[in-house]
Amino acid sequence: MSVMELSHRGPEFEGIIREAEKSLRTLLAIPPNYRVLFLQGGATTLFSAIPLNLLPNAEACADYIVTGAWSQKAAAEAKKYGCVNVVNADASGMSDLGKELQLSPQASYVYYCANETIHGVEFAQPPAVPADQVLVADMSSNILSRPVDVAKFGIIYGGAQKNIGCSGVTIVIVRDDLLGKAQASCPEMLDLFIHAKNGSLYNTPPTWSIYIAGLVFKWALAEGGVEEFDRRSALKAGSVYSVIDSSAGFYTCPVPVHMRSRMNVPFRIQGGDAKLEKEFLAAAEKRHMLQLAGHRSVGGIRASLYNAVDVGMVEQLVAFMKEFQAAKQAPQA
Ligand SMILES: *Cc1c(COP(=O)(O)O)cnc(C)c1O
Repeated sequence: MSVMELSHRGPEFEGIIREAEKSLRTLLAIPPNYRVLFLQGGATTLFSAIPLNLLPNAEACADYIVTGAWSQKAAAEAKKYGCVNVVNADASGMSDLGKELQLSPQASYVYYCANETIHGVEFAQPPAVPADQVLVADMSSNILSRPVDVAKFGIIYGGAQKNIGCSGVTIVIVRDDLLGKAQASCPEMLDLFIHAKNGSLYNTPPTWSIYIAGLVFKWALAEGGVEEFDRRSALKAGSVYSVIDSSAGFYTCPVPVHMRSRMNVPFRIQGGDAKLEKEFLAAAEKRHMLQLAGHRSVGGIRASLYNAVDVGMVEQLVAFMKEFQAAKQAPQA
């Protein structure tokens, strides 16, 4: 029988899910007072589950750091269940990560998105919040690309489909003292306590996606763990940004250097020349480099450099970018 045919209540699947949890605990050095959950509904479901679990009532407040599309969506959803303070005044999606945050002393938690997948904005380290404040991070698109000090967080979560495995499972790492305090109206499927109490087997979990995630965790450990992916990420992103920055304006990245993502590198060609960008994408596709178009909301080009993209693939991309520029700027005969 394949994993898809196994009962999620049987000892075989029980072994698969516990082994996946064990590997993730090793990879991120997760302390024993944190629970690891494998849930459904994607990262987007957590946009609602987080306020429902952490805000005691609809009058309570949370601080949101808005740095791009995903944190903006999370803040908008949280507003349905409590009050939301956007603590970096400029919510345009390009706010400066270095700016001091106007944190509210009474906030139930501080929320941020560790890597804005669409805008290419990444926190190199977690934002500075008081040690006793509950910090919540959406790490959907940069989890396992660098070491994290889990003990600094109340909740870390992320959908699996960017840096872990196939879609369908969302990983939640939650400090156990935060569980069991959900708002009375919280749907049972969004109550993290219920999932923790049942070892992520309250109802049928996405068994296949959990199996794949477990295999990827094992692979990541064998490759050298998050320290190795940290090193590769710096190398990969560094080489793409270096081509952009040394292209004399042929390629431009809209993100200031200190906020640039190592996972998603957005860039424009000749200041956003749609015809040239289309040509670039078509030529890249001919070389089997796919999915380089920017998100439909921002356009342009986006190179996503997830853990599955190896250094050799990035070398090919970089060589292609240089060739494309040289061909476009060659003197006309
Ligand atoms: C993709 C993504 C999401 C949404 O994930 P779904 O699993 O599609 O709900 C949320 N946050 C970030 C940072 C993402 O990259």
